[in-house]
Amino acid sequence: MGDEPQQGRSYNVLPGTKMGVVTVDHLEKIAEVARKHEIPLVKVTSAQRIAFAGHPPEKVAEIWRDLGQAAGPKKPVGIHYIKACPGVLWCKYGRQDSLALGDKLEKALFSMPLPAKTKVGISGCPMNCCESYIRDLGIFGMKKGWTLVFGGNGGGVPRIGDVMAEGLDDEQVIELAGRCLKYFAEHARKFERTGRFMRRTDLETFKRAVGL
Ligand code: SF4
Repeated sequence: MGDEPQQGRSYNVLPGTKMGVVTVDHLEKIAEVARKHEIPLVKVTSAQRIAFAGHPPEKVAEIWRDLGQAAGPKKPVGIHYIKACPGVLWCKYGRQDSLALGDKLEKALFSMPLPAKTKVGISGCPMNCCESYIRDLGIFGMKKGWTLVFGGNGGGVPRIGDVMAEGLDDEQVIELAGRCLKYFAEHARKFERTGRFMRRTDLETFKRAVGL
């Protein structure tokens, strides 16, 4: 997350929120800062975050300060966001706890340097509300565990990801995700997204390389 230049004088500030989960206190702080700085656009993004946009760049540092957060933490190119649905604790269709897995996966893999922006979608059941089949790394819950999908993309050149394994527990799915990302990091071209990488990679070779 961070402040990224937009068109003209607009800048984005993404004041927290993980997997779309917010607290009342955080919402109040966001409202207070947005009101103080007369932020032209406050937007819930497709990545389940809240964005401020339309303010001049010279205001960015002050906005972060007022939010009480470190200004736009810089991290290497890698996991861009993890989005997750409410999962089994909060949704009647849920099979697995997607929010808990999102937390664990963030701790394990978020800082891993990767060749390109990498998006993660975790859905608590096969209804796939977090579009796991079209995320670079997609995970969805079944009664017997997690299914891991790799190499999906929902952008201009969409791709359904490849199912790598099923019936995984939390630790197994994180380990396998790590091995898939490691292979991707070692073999992809700079700025090559997983979808494009998987189009030119033999699936069986990839699976063998990640221990499947
Ligand atoms: S993916 Fe399943 S568990 Fe998650 S919100 Fe959708 S229906 Fe509910």
